[in-house]
Amino acid sequence: MIDHLIQYAYLVGAVLLILGMRALGSPKTAVRGNLIASLGMLVLVVATLFLQGVVDYPVIIAGVLLGSAIGAFLALRIQMTAMPQMVALLNGFGGGASTLVASGELFGYARAGTFPEGIVPYAIVAGALIGAVTFTGSIVAFAKLQELMRGAAITYPLQKVINGLIAIAVLALCAAVVIDPHALPLYLTLVGISLVLGVLLVIPIGGADMPVVISLLNSYSGLAACATGFVLGNSALVIGGSLVGASGIILTKIMCDAMNRSLTNVLFGAFGAVEEAGPAASGPQGTAKGYTPEDAAVIFANARRVIIVPGYGMAVAQAQHAVRELSDVLGEAGIDVKFAIHPVAGRMPGHMNVLLAEADVPYDKLVEMDDINPEFPEADVALVLGANDVVNPMARTEKSSPIYGMPILDVDRATYVFVIKRSMNPGFAGIQNPLFFNDNTMMIFGDAKKTVLQIIEAVRNFAS
Ligand code: NAP
Repeated sequence: MIDHLIQYAYLVGAVLLILGMRALGSPKTAVRGNLIASLGMLVLVVATLFLQGVVDYPVIIAGVLLGSAIGAFLALRIQMTAMPQMVALLNGFGGGASTLVASGELFGYARAGTFPEGIVPYAIVAGALIGAVTFTGSIVAFAKLQELMRGAAITYPLQKVINGLIAIAVLALCAAVVIDPHALPLYLTLVGISLVLGVLLVIPIGGADMPVVISLLNSYSGLAACATGFVLGNSALVIGGSLVGASGIILTKIMCDAMNRSLTNVLFGAFGAVEEAGPAASGPQGTAKGYTPEDAAVIFANARRVIIVPGYGMAVAQAQHAVRELSDVLGEAGIDVKFAIHPVAGRMPGHMNVLLAEADVPYDKLVEMDDINPEFPEADVALVLGANDVVNPMARTEKSSPIYGMPILDVDRATYVFVIKRSMNPGFAGIQNPLFFNDNTMMIFGDAKKTVLQIIEAVRNFAS
C-alpha cells in the first residue's frame, strides 16, 4: 500500500517538475516555475523518506543538516557575479554523489557475493564514469572562473590523441566491469581514470566558452543522477536526472547557437589558445574619446529612442537599480527606452534578465537580440553599460578574431553610442573592441553605477 502511494507521489512530483520547468521558460512566469519545481522536488524527497527498509534516518538527518548549512552559507555569501562558479560546484557535487552511490552499490554486491542484474551493471559504470568526469571537470571550471587557475586554454602536443586514448581505455574498463562486477580493482581504476579525464577534457577549453561547458556539465550531472536512479531502482531519480540531462543539453545548444559555434568546436577548438596567440590578441588600436556625464545629458535631451545594453560590468557594479532609475527619468522625459539582452551577456545564462528583474524593470522593456537588432539604426542612443564582447563588431568582420561569427548586438548602428566602463581593458574574451574608436562612440569612463547616477543628476540638471 505505502509503496503504491510513494509511486503516485513520484508521479505528482514529476508532473510538478515538468510544469515548473515549463513556467521557467519565460521571465514572467519564472518565479512561479521555480516554486512549482521546488514543490515537486519536496514531494519527491518526502515520498522517498517513506521508502521501507532502505532509509537510514540518522544518516539522512545528518546529511540534511550539514548540506543545508553549507548551502545556506554559500547562497548568502556568494556574489551574483560568482554564480557560474557556484553552479559549476553544484554540478560537480551532483556528479561526485552519483559516483559515490554507484560505488557504494557495487561494493555492496561484492560484499554480499551477489551480482547486479539487467540494466544495473551498465547503470553503475555509467553513473560512476559520468559522475567522476562531471566532478573533476566542474572543479576545473570552478577554478578557472574563480581565477584559481589560468582561465585561458591549456594545450600541449598530442592532446586530442591522448584524450582519445584515455577515453578508449575508460570504455574498455567499463566493459570489463560490466562483465565482472566483482573486479573492484578494475572498477577503482575506471573511477580514477574518469576523474583524470574530467580534468583533461576541461583544461583545453578557455575563456568565453566556459558558460557552454558549465551547462554541458550540468547536463552530465543529470545523466549521472539518472543512471544512479537505475542503480537504485528509483524512478524519481530517473525522471529528475533525465529532466536535468535534457534541459542541460538544450541550454548547451542555445548557448552554442548564441556564440555561433558548434559544440565540437567549443569542446575541441581550444578557443582560448587562439585568443592568446592570434593576431586579434592586441586588437585594433586608435584613439578613444572620453566624455562626461554632462555631455551624455545634452545628447539625451534631444533623443527620442534609447536602447540600453547591459553587460558583465553592470553586474560587477551592481548598477541595475541605478539604470532602472535612469530609464524612468528618460521615460518621464518622453524617451522610448528599451533594454537589449544578449544571450551570453554577463557570466551566466539569463544573468541580465535576473538583475534587471531584481530592479523591477518591466519585462516588456527587455528585448532579445534578434528582435532588438533591427531597431538600432533607428535609435538615437545605444547606452552600453559594462558590456564589451557582446557588442564587438569584429565578430561580424574579422575572421582572425576568436569571436568571429558570434552574433552581437548591433550598437554601432545607432546614431550615438555611449560606452560606460572603467578603462580600455578588454572583456572576457581578452580582445580589444574597435567600437570604442568609432566616430559615433563616446566613452564615459567610470564605474557603471557611479557613472549612471552622475548621468541621472546631469539629465535632471539639464532639464531644470
Ligand atoms: P565582457 O565582454 O566580459 O565585458 C565586461 C566589461 O565590463 C569589461 O570590459 C569591463 O571593462 C567592464 N566592467 C567591469 N567592471 C565594471 C564596473 N564596475 N563598471 C563599469 N564597467 C565595468 O562582458 P559582456 O559584454 O557581458 O560579455 C560576456 C562575455 O562573457 C562573453 O565573452 C561571454 O561569452 C562570456 N561569458 C558569458 C557567460 C554567460 O553565460 N552569460 C558565462 C561566462 C562567460 P573595464 O574593466 O574597463 O571596466
